[in-house]
Amino acid sequence: MTVQTKPRRVAETPERPGRVESVEPGTLGEEIGLEQGDQIHSVNGQQLVDALEFQYLADGEQVTIVVERGNEMLEYEIEREIWEPWGITFADPTFDGIHLCENACPFCFIKQLPKGMRKSLYVMDDDYRYSMMYGNFVTLTNLTEADWQRIEEQRIGPMNVSVHATDPDLRVALVGNPKAANIMEHLARLERAGIEYNTQVVLCPGVNDGEQLDRTIGDLVNSGPYMRSIAIVPVGLSQHGLERQSKRVRLSRTCMRSLPNADQKILEMRRHTDEEAREVIRQVSEWQQKLRPEHGRSVVYLGDEFYLMTGESVPQSREYDGFPQVEDGIGITRLFLDDVDRTIRRKQRRDLTGLGGTLVCGTLIADTMQHTVERINQKFGTTLRVVSAENTMFGPQINVSGLLTGGIVRDAVADEDSSEPVFISDTMVSRRTNTFLDDMSVTDLAESLGREVIPAENISDVLDALVRPAASVA
Ligand code: SF4
Repeated sequence: MTVQTKPRRVAETPERPGRVESVEPGTLGEEIGLEQGDQIHSVNGQQLVDALEFQYLADGEQVTIVVERGNEMLEYEIEREIWEPWGITFADPTFDGIHLCENACPFCFIKQLPKGMRKSLYVMDDDYRYSMMYGNFVTLTNLTEADWQRIEEQRIGPMNVSVHATDPDLRVALVGNPKAANIMEHLARLERAGIEYNTQVVLCPGVNDGEQLDRTIGDLVNSGPYMRSIAIVPVGLSQHGLERQSKRVRLSRTCMRSLPNADQKILEMRRHTDEEAREVIRQVSEWQQKLRPEHGRSVVYLGDEFYLMTGESVPQSREYDGFPQVEDGIGITRLFLDDVDRTIRRKQRRDLTGLGGTLVCGTLIADTMQHTVERINQKFGTTLRVVSAENTMFGPQINVSGLLTGGIVRDAVADEDSSEPVFISDTMVSRRTNTFLDDMSVTDLAESLGREVIPAENISDVLDALVRPAASVA
């Protein structure tokens, strides 16, 4: 493997790399006596850099692992069945820290964050391992030759790749990194290795839409059989981002010189107008109709925001082909609406008459939510109500529910004289820490309101929670 010459930028390097966080009962890990807090140093003599490498190296029938427990170093020689799960999770999945990005995207949302948010949000990660493990999108611009060889050898995938544009010069400008030009070569390398990948385009009006978007979709569709899907999401601009835009553009001035239009000095970042959003829907719909007969699926999918901001209906479920990019929010409105229809059509429920609560949501989905709640109240006799909350932290242009903070939810219902539960979208809260973006925990919010706060994925969760005994709130 090629020796890496430049030190890699990393963050969050764990104090005890390889520390076991949990051991599942009934698995090989428990059988051989691994314990929470053990530190796994090596497998078959090879030092580990992350949990993926453990999975890869410890997948054989004869495995030797070296474990540090307290002041002791223990060596286990294990014979295992090839199917036997180890059943261990690591406290930090990457033992050498998180690989940081080397880019300066003019729309970078992390640079638009105000102060006081959850600390982990400020980490500008671009780590291919997190792409496979958690679905993060990566640009591939910081990969070393050693990384590539490892990806190929260990077949690390599927990968989620932020493409934005396939025109090399435009991608350089959009990613703010001269290394971003060879995206098609990078994708070809994934193809040769047989690694599946999803792609994403952050669409910036007047920059990478129109003909550039046609080119990008065409290039990606033709890149090979391992390209699974293209998600197109609108650029997100907080008020902080807009205030700092001139600074952000200066950051990537070197890359501006390479733009197709040589006179172009800045990339203006702004939101789509309704008319532009409608044009994007029309353009993508044409592609979908063309691609579906050829590929048996739409291949390219639009972020829900395009439909919601224009008032157009979100596509039917079958048009999402199994929702390949639901982690990127693509199609969650359709899943929500289908759940509402199913609930109203079929569910035999306990008597819900008179039971109620407050559903807090972002302004983008407020009309849809209001209509939904009216249907539910009519069907079940519930007294649910909707509170639409403007995003005072990021500015009104950021209108999705998932970016509301605990503080905003608290303020939105502060005037209510009610002891009924407050329902929030589960996308507002980190699954790992149970905290909002502003680091407020769900428990703290519940305590400050004196009401139960319940994260819900859909309307079924809300109705189920109404008949559950309430959790006590201190
Ligand atoms: S890749 Fe771009 S958007 Fe992502 S963290 Fe880096 S600069 Fe920000």
